[in-house]
Amino acid sequence: MRWHTRLPFTAKHGGQVKCYPTKNCRVGFYTRPDALPKGEGFSPIQRIELMKMILVSACLLGVKCRYDGESRPDERLLEMASEVVFIPLCPEQLGGLSTPRIPARIVGGNGEDVLNNLAKVIDSSDRDVTGQFINGAKEATRIAKLMRASVAIMKEKSPSCGVRFIRKNDSTVEGMGVTSALLMREGIQVISSDEINCYRLKPMAGR
Ligand code: SF4
Repeated sequence: MRWHTRLPFTAKHGGQVKCYPTKNCRVGFYTRPDALPKGEGFSPIQRIELMKMILVSACLLGVKCRYDGESRPDERLLEMASEVVFIPLCPEQLGGLSTPRIPARIVGGNGEDVLNNLAKVIDSSDRDVTGQFINGAKEATRIAKLMRASVAIMKEKSPSCGVRFIRKNDSTVEGMGVTSALLMREGIQVISSDEINCYRLKPMAGR
């Protein structure tokens, strides 16, 4: 455990708050209120405020929401699930698409271009699902703001959730998915599922 000075709650708590950051950590995860250290002088309300809400692509937590009706559980995140507050969601389901569904790809750009009306999302049957992808991105962003999530861990290479890469015509190209692009535009820190090693929690002393 160490002092953190660059987190959103710092001013409120006299310039410093305690958390359990990981090696090379950029953020530091707040733990559940019942896991916060005892006797630190936080009231029950303050302890709840100290929780860090983290949006997560639901398929990474084992939810079978992928286009093929499967999931992509990530053991590192499953291990963290008992220590932090995850908000699992699937933007494509939130946008009104069914599961399973026909896979889709971004045509004419990346997620940012889709938001700017410069590209479309087309599924393998040539159906335009741009509207559903944008609606899903808006819903995910609305939930993130409602829950005051400042961080999102998103599944890499998805046309919705990709952070650095998206899949296009059987190849991987650079670019963000539609939801990740909107979350980032709205000031939420978006982390790729391929980059979460340094976010693992250290075992907490005395627990
Ligand atoms: S849209 Fe995101 S959460 Fe939903 S299945 Fe695809 S990668 Fe997973």
